[in-house]
Parts: sequence; structure tokens; C-alpha cells
Amino acid sequence: MPSALPLSAALLSLLTAAPKAPAPAATKDTGPSPQVAERLVGAALTEGHAYARLAELTDGIGPRLSGSEGEKAAVQWARRSFEADGVKVWLEPVKVPRWVRGAESGRVLASERFREHPLALLALGGSVATPPEGVTAEVLEVRSLEEVAALGDKVKGKVVFFNHAMSEAADYGKVAGLRTRGAAVSAKAGAVATLVRSLATASLRTPHTGAMRYEEGVPQIPAAAVSVEDAELLHRLLAAGPVKVELKLSSQTLADADSFNVVAEVPGREKPREVVLLGAHLDSWDVGTGAHDDGAGVTMVMEAARLIGKLKPAPRRTVRVVLFANEENGLRGGRAYAEAHAAELGNHVAALEMDSGGGRPLGVALRAGPGGEELVRPWLRPLEALGAGSILAGDAGGADLSPLVPARVPFVGVRVDSSRYFDVHHSAADTLDKVDAKDLARSTAAVAWVAYVLAEVPGVLPRPEAPAAPTPKSAH
Ligand code: ZN
Ligand code: ZN
Repeated sequence: MPSALPLSAALLSLLTAAPKAPAPAATKDTGPSPQVAERLVGAALTEGHAYARLAELTDGIGPRLSGSEGEKAAVQWARRSFEADGVKVWLEPVKVPRWVRGAESGRVLASERFREHPLALLALGGSVATPPEGVTAEVLEVRSLEEVAALGDKVKGKVVFFNHAMSEAADYGKVAGLRTRGAAVSAKAGAVATLVRSLATASLRTPHTGAMRYEEGVPQIPAAAVSVEDAELLHRLLAAGPVKVELKLSSQTLADADSFNVVAEVPGREKPREVVLLGAHLDSWDVGTGAHDDGAGVTMVMEAARLIGKLKPAPRRTVRVVLFANEENGLRGGRAYAEAHAAELGNHVAALEMDSGGGRPLGVALRAGPGGEELVRPWLRPLEALGAGSILAGDAGGADLSPLVPARVPFVGVRVDSSRYFDVHHSAADTLDKVDAKDLARSTAAVAWVAYVLAEVPGVLPRPEAPAAPTPKSAH
């Protein structure tokens, strides 16, 4: 459990100082009250509540893959926790896919050149099983989906191995397609299975799983991620000649299961129909305990609601927290929310999703129409001492929010330091010990403050333009 975090008098005075910038002339914006900043930012920094909650979720409940017992327990835990906080809460039904990993193994078969090696692997979420005796075939190393198509007949009967050079968090989006689409692309060309180098920025031979999807009318072949070290081994062995592997996966997709989005809210005092949505996803992968992904985000937004719920009077608008079901392997929770609330999306004045881990806050990002920055900037001063008081370039969003794009809901992001997020993301190493209690507290403070600003600032963010292209998918 975390100890109380030290907060110097100087820091407190910085947090609570009134903004220097004058309020926008068009409104009666007098800026935030220093007392409110202390009650939100100060409390989040000193009470250690988010980290204590994260321990309950990760150590107490554990992994939370859609349809699992852990996921069910997490839904009830979230409901009880909001109730204990005095925050109104309800459950909204979502049918979720239910994929079960089962036993799995792989090995590099011995040859004249080398002895046998075990492979540290994880089936990708959604993968079919191999036959009980496994799949045994030669490995074909590629770097891109395009290369598979270009290789033509050489792919037939092979295990296609997607190697890549991910080295930093920003690479994730560039290589994620190898994991999500590699099996379908390879199957079209006649491959019998795929291996993908784990999408990771660090490794102690820990494989990283993640979602993949098949395509209609294309054979479904087994797909797994291998550890970075095993990818390097395969690469070295392949440089000198043919390599055969054996893969045994017993994963299955069962009937869809009943689950829920957990929805909680603090009603606004003046414009209760105007909603500021704070999201995070309650599900996780089945390995590790989803501490960074997305337990950290869950506890940040829950704590924001708890602290804002204690304010008297409440902020002008409603702050609604949605703990989405099934972000990892289906996005059914995000879609269900957008459908169930279609009639009120015009009243969603802002939406923010925390799903990049529990790192320290770096600043605020916006996806809004012109004038959004000017509305928010004068109110961010209480975050300056945390290093998060600036508006950053780049987009805001989140996978679960993507179904809200057509309704032109403005998105706001509290950007966190995710430079180490992919060290543990989707792996057995995503556990509580990887989350720094102070960083989590700082980001929680930033989320609570930004949520309050969006709910209290006199004006609302201008809505962004309708998207010209299909919604980009966030891959966190
Ligand atoms: Zn996530
Ligand atoms: Zn994830």
C-alpha cells in the first residue's frame, strides 16, 4: 500500500493559485476556485486512493478477459466501489466474445545445425487451435504484410514469422497490423500458422499477446506471439538455413457471454443533461493482471468521480464515468455505449479515455473545433506543478470512444508518459509492481482536474468536424 505522498507547501500554493491569464472576454469566466483545486488535485496527490483501488483490482481480482470469472468479479467490484464512494452507479448490458486460451507450447525442432529450443509464446486473442498433434512446418521470415503477398507460392505450407523492429512506444501503431492482420494475410497465401515478434519495448523473454482478427472467406490459421528473444533466435537460425517449428495451441472461442459497461455519474448542478464522459476499460488480457492496461485508467477515472462527487456544490455539468467492457478483443462495450446513448450524444460535451498506462501526466490534448484551446488553457494552471499544465499537439481519443466520432463529440486527453508502457503491455509482467504510486497519483490528479474543468468552465468545447475518413482505430 502506498504511503501518503509528500506535498510541500510551495507545491500546494502553486496548485491552488488563481490563473494569471485573464478570463476569455466573451464569458464571465472567473477561472477555477483555488479551494476546488486543493480538494481535487491535493487529495489525489496525497490520499493514495487510486493506488489502493488498483491493488484491489489487480491483486484482489486479477486478470479480466471478457467472459471470464475475473471480468464478472471486476464488474461487481466496480459497482460496490462506486457505491462505497457515494457515486450513483448502474450496469448496462453488453454481449461479449468469450475466447479461452488453453494450454499452448512451441519449439524449434532440432536440425543438423542446432539442438532443439523451446519457444516462449502466447496465442493471440481470437486464434483458433492447432490440431492436437500440433502444426509442424518450416518458418518463413517476413517484415511486412506486403512481403507476404509478394512472396507468392513460397508462403504455401509455411509458418509465417513476422519480424519487426519495434523499439519505442511510438512504433506500436506502425507494427500492430502484423499482429492483427498477419494471420488473415498469410492464410490467403497458403500459410499454415503465423508467429509474430512480440510488440514490446523491453523483454525478459516474456511474450506479449493481443487481438487478431480473421477475414470472412479466408481460412483461419493459428497465430501466436513469440518473445523478442525467441524472435531474435529464429532470425539468427534462419540466416543460416531452414528452420522448422512445432506449435500446439488449444485456444477456443465459446458462445458470447453476458457482461456490462459499468456507468457512474455525478449529476451536474446547472446543466445535468450536458455530459462529460470519463472512460477506461475494465477488461484486460488473461495474462498479467492488467495493472497498466487498463487498471490504472480505471482507477484514475473512478477516483476522479469520487473526488468530484464530494464537491459542494457539484460542477455545472454531469461527470459520467464509463468502465467499458471488452476493449481488448472486440470493442463491444464502446459500441454498446454509443448505441444505447445515441439520443444523448449531442449532449456529450467532452469525452476522455485513459488507456495508456499509469505513467506521470505530460499535458492535455484536444480533439475539438477551433477555439477549444482558448477555452481550456486558462484553467489548466493547477496542473503546472505536475508538469501537465500545457496543451499538447496531437490528437485525443481512445478505442472505446471511437464509436462517438460520428456524433462529433469533442475528445480530451490527459497524455501520460507511456514510454515504458509497452515493456509490459499485454504480457504476464503487467502487474501492480510496475505502476509507480506517485505517477499514478499525479495522473489521477490531472484527470480529476481536467474532468472538473470540462464540467465547470462556462463554455463548452466547439465540436470537431465530422470525419472525412473512417474512424482510425486506437490500438491500446
Ligand atoms: Zn487498453
Ligand atoms: Zn490492451
